[in-house]
Amino acid sequence: MLRVTFLGTAASRPTVGRNVSSVAVQREGELMLFDCGEGTQRQMMRFGTGFNVGDIFLTHVHADHFLGVTGLLRTLALQDRAEPIRLWAPEGSAAIVWDAINLGRERVPFQVTVAELEPEQVIARTDFDIVAFPVRHGGRALGYALIERPRLGRFNPERARALGVPEGPLFGRLHKGEAVEVDGRMITPDQVVGTPRPGRRLVYSGDTRPARSTVAIAKGADLLIHDATFAEDEAERARLTGHSTAREAGELARAAGVTRLALTHVSARYADDPRPLEREARAAFRGAVVAWDGMEIEIPLQPGEDGEPPA
Ligand SMILES: [Zn+2]
Ligand SMILES: [Zn+2]
Repeated sequence: MLRVTFLGTAASRPTVGRNVSSVAVQREGELMLFDCGEGTQRQMMRFGTGFNVGDIFLTHVHADHFLGVTGLLRTLALQDRAEPIRLWAPEGSAAIVWDAINLGRERVPFQVTVAELEPEQVIARTDFDIVAFPVRHGGRALGYALIERPRLGRFNPERARALGVPEGPLFGRLHKGEAVEVDGRMITPDQVVGTPRPGRRLVYSGDTRPARSTVAIAKGADLLIHDATFAEDEAERARLTGHSTAREAGELARAAGVTRLALTHVSARYADDPRPLEREARAAFRGAVVAWDGMEIEIPLQPGEDGEPPA
């Protein structure tokens, strides 16, 4: 399962219907937050993400992207959390993140780490990577990509048995790509295992002007979540404030050839009626949607026709 829940889709300040930036990503029982604007913890309750969050990736330390850390950590403490939590932020911003963690008299009773990330830094997990990439928002803002490793092709146990491979550890070794010897014969993985299936790719730009680095990392992504603060009539303001227009986001998504585009960081002017943004983005990328608080997107595994094991 790979599910994205938009917790906050407003730019800079909340509106009645939209909270400030945060995106929850649930993957195989793991919960990650990308940005954590003020009030994120309440959005997690409203939209049922649970609180089992292990990592918070901050794109930058503008207040609308990280002030929620203070309250969220207090709530986790009241829930008797014991597991550590890891916060990640661009180079040079750890001190500000620590201020948010330590604000108030209570001490956080579980382990908190804050790691600074350089652009292009990779956080490797068992079967996916989180890649920080540079964006254009002044200072050292980062975007993040969740990139799954290719999945093993499907294993055909009947075929393996027919070839005389005894059920047990040899099955696992073949599945992982190792040739094994059975009664003096070599059995190779391609006899019993399909080709690897591509992993999924999810890209979150954070606040940014359109950036080549975003196009590069979003190539073929299943979902791109991009800054679309303004419509075209405020293109100049977008340029001056380090944000994108909806049309720019649409053009970038088309250039990258992504499957889906969700627009976020919506200026208060469009909070109640984001249709102008959607229209402008769709002129470049059909199917673009302006995200709303509570919107969920499930990212399916890519069709596994090439993952079928040999018959
Ligand atoms: Zn912002
Ligand atoms: Zn910002």
